[in-house]
Amino acid sequence: MRLPTLILIITMLLAGCSQAGPADRPTGDGRLQVVATTQHIADAVANIAGDAIVLTSLLGPGIDPHTYVATEGDIQTLQDADLIVANGLLLEARMARILEQIGQGGTTRVVAVGDRLDPSTLLNWEPEAGLPHDPHIWNDVRLWIQVVGVIREALVELDPANAATYTANATRYTTELEALHRYTLAQVERIPQERRVLVTAHDAFSYYGRAYGFQVEAVQGISTQAEASAADIQALADVVTARRVPAMFVETTISPRTIEAVQEAVRAAGHSVAIGGALFADAMGAPGTPEGTYVGMMRHNIDTIVAALAGT
Ligand SMILES: [Zn+2]
Repeated sequence: MRLPTLILIITMLLAGCSQAGPADRPTGDGRLQVVATTQHIADAVANIAGDAIVLTSLLGPGIDPHTYVATEGDIQTLQDADLIVANGLLLEARMARILEQIGQGGTTRVVAVGDRLDPSTLLNWEPEAGLPHDPHIWNDVRLWIQVVGVIREALVELDPANAATYTANATRYTTELEALHRYTLAQVERIPQERRVLVTAHDAFSYYGRAYGFQVEAVQGISTQAEASAADIQALADVVTARRVPAMFVETTISPRTIEAVQEAVRAAGHSVAIGGALFADAMGAPGTPEGTYVGMMRHNIDTIVAALAGT
């Protein structure tokens, strides 16, 4: 092959690459490139799409989405995607701008699942601060079933060739989630009514409380971006003392020291409260462990709560 011919072919190939589409993406195997921000979303995408796509999960175990800032490498990964699935509702507060910019670029579809839900099903957050809705939507399994529907629709629209796979998998996974919802409701019944108080490090469990019948109290607000004050800690200690709450819970993405400070303040008031274990709130467990899946993580949470609050 003569050199000018080779250059011409390379030029044609490069020109082809500028027409963004699944077949031209870096892996080049024709599959849709999907990036999920949180582990919860990555797990839902994986259950719906399986091997039909190439999936990257941005935030790993123990990473706090409220404060996470995208690295240079993350931004490249996001820009290379055909589809980004984010939680939205400003959970990924410090990535919202870059996600919006990439979405406006036109080559990558950005779907913020929380923003696609019926607003009447969402809880208020801090509307006066421009934050209308609580973003911790995965903590009500029925809302998460809606999210599975949103993700399925986005995949079918971008990759209609695999529509039957996405639809069949979403149906199967929804059945699994319905069983999880029933399991959680049944477990709650083991806790005496007056002990259904869930005390956690930050306010991630309001949807959980609404769905499964807990009074929810937390040291920090819905976002972890602001530090808890001494007054916050004392106010919570007063509630724990007054309600004779037997146990509180730490979270895997948050330092246990605020909950330990509440425990100290309760002791100072002449009472005692246990730390009932760690709940997974804004991140899940390590991949490959039961808590590394949404279903396993939710089962871990309710089993931990029941063990600590049910009593003998
Ligand atoms: Zn949170």
